[in-house]
Amino acid sequence: MAKNREERLIEEGAAALALAGVDGNGRPRPALERESLDVVVIGAGQAGLSVGYYLAQRGLRFVILDACQRIGDTWRNRWDSLRLFTPARYDGIAGMPFPAPANSFPTKDEMADYLEAYAARFHLPVRSGVRVEGLTKRGDRYVVKAGQLEFEAEQVVVAMANYQKGRAPAFARELRPDIVQLHSSEYRNPSQLADGGVLIVGAGNSGAEIALELARTHTVWMSGRDTGQVPFRINGFAARLFLVTLVLRFVFHRVLTVRTPIGRKVRPKVLHVGGPLIRVKAKDLRKAGVQRAPRVAGVRDGLPLLDDGRVLDVANVIWCTGFHPNFSWIDLPIFGSDGIPHHEQGVVEGEPGLYFVGLHFLYAFSSVMIHGVGRDAARIVKTIAKTRLRTAHRSDTLRSHGQTEFDSSRRATEA
Ligand SMILES: Cc1cc2nc3c(=O)[nH]c(=O)nc-3n(C[C@H](O)[C@H](O)[C@H](O)COP(=O)(O)OP(=O)(O)OC[C@H]3O[C@@H](n4cnc5c(N)ncnc54)[C@H](O)[C@@H]3O)c2cc1C
Repeated sequence: MAKNREERLIEEGAAALALAGVDGNGRPRPALERESLDVVVIGAGQAGLSVGYYLAQRGLRFVILDACQRIGDTWRNRWDSLRLFTPARYDGIAGMPFPAPANSFPTKDEMADYLEAYAARFHLPVRSGVRVEGLTKRGDRYVVKAGQLEFEAEQVVVAMANYQKGRAPAFARELRPDIVQLHSSEYRNPSQLADGGVLIVGAGNSGAEIALELARTHTVWMSGRDTGQVPFRINGFAARLFLVTLVLRFVFHRVLTVRTPIGRKVRPKVLHVGGPLIRVKAKDLRKAGVQRAPRVAGVRDGLPLLDDGRVLDVANVIWCTGFHPNFSWIDLPIFGSDGIPHHEQGVVEGEPGLYFVGLHFLYAFSSVMIHGVGRDAARIVKTIAKTRLRTAHRSDTLRSHGQTEFDSSRRATEA
């Protein structure tokens, strides 16, 4: 789009200030701080900390960058009443069990504090409050930019789940302005809502849990496709005895993987439709008075229009419609049309030294879960260490022949 005169003047002014070494308020701009490392890890949730744990064991020089002010904030910022649906015995990552009775279900704040304690216990080099704004390449090294910080590394791990930015349909903008709209990632508790009905759009785990909570104070409709449910109570006697282990450790971790025919068959469905309900059952929703509604097709007269032609006169809409991975800051040609990078079990195709950990079904259904991420992290760090060894060996060989890496790559290009 062509820029107008005002935009051009603002840009020219900013460029002139940058040249003069001052920011928009005339204050001196801090100099660019550059650092060279073996590995940069982006994200300090369970995925990034697991990667850090294994990198530290290999003695590699690395840093873990995270946009949050405090480790665990992703969990702290989820809705107030959230409890994990996985029991504590499956909520610890490598090297440190979760400090709670094995069959209890921790709160989201306990999970956040656990992650913070984990980073402290293993002295992981986490830099909080550092939002990465650019990942590019200079020669065969990666360049990670965050404000005035610039990190250069041979290898980079993007360590985060797909759940980075709330997603809602474009027609959400057409809803009446007096309707309170929240994405599930912004929902905290019922006090945020207006009096009147609530439409929950999306019938996955977040949608079902929020619907159940709101049914105590509001009339609630829940629209969206049924994603199925695990056929037992997660806090029941049989679950504690063996069913949770059967589902989490056997089905989600060993059976549903990219290496099994059944895993490859269900993977596309899981990636696009979502997993089954784990804590809440359809029966609980019915009992609480939550009314099921068909898909939301659009907006009519400022109100949500359902697939069956009905218009719902609600005062609140909560979009439990999933997330975007939000990788717009990665400036490398690695993405498919769905915004997910092309990768083979976390190893990015065509970009040596770039990896992902934490993505949904990266290797198994459990890859995005607390108990599943460690296996992927260990495997990726093994690959990183092997690559390092190969590079070190190559540099030694070149040195013994009186050449440098630069000489050799220039000769290869010239040839
Ligand atoms: C509501 C909800 C409940 C869940 N409950 C469970 C459960 O009970 N049990 C279970 O096993 N799993 C559960 N999960 C799934 C999963 O365990 C969590 O989503 C978990 O937070 C994923 O951890 P992660 O480290 O992969 O990613 P995240 O927790 O999303 O962490 C990614 C980190 O990367 C940082 N980051 C992102 N972009 C940038 C950037 N550009 N620069 C710097 N830093 C950046 C973020 O600040 C964040 O700290 C749940 C998920 C949701 C959404």
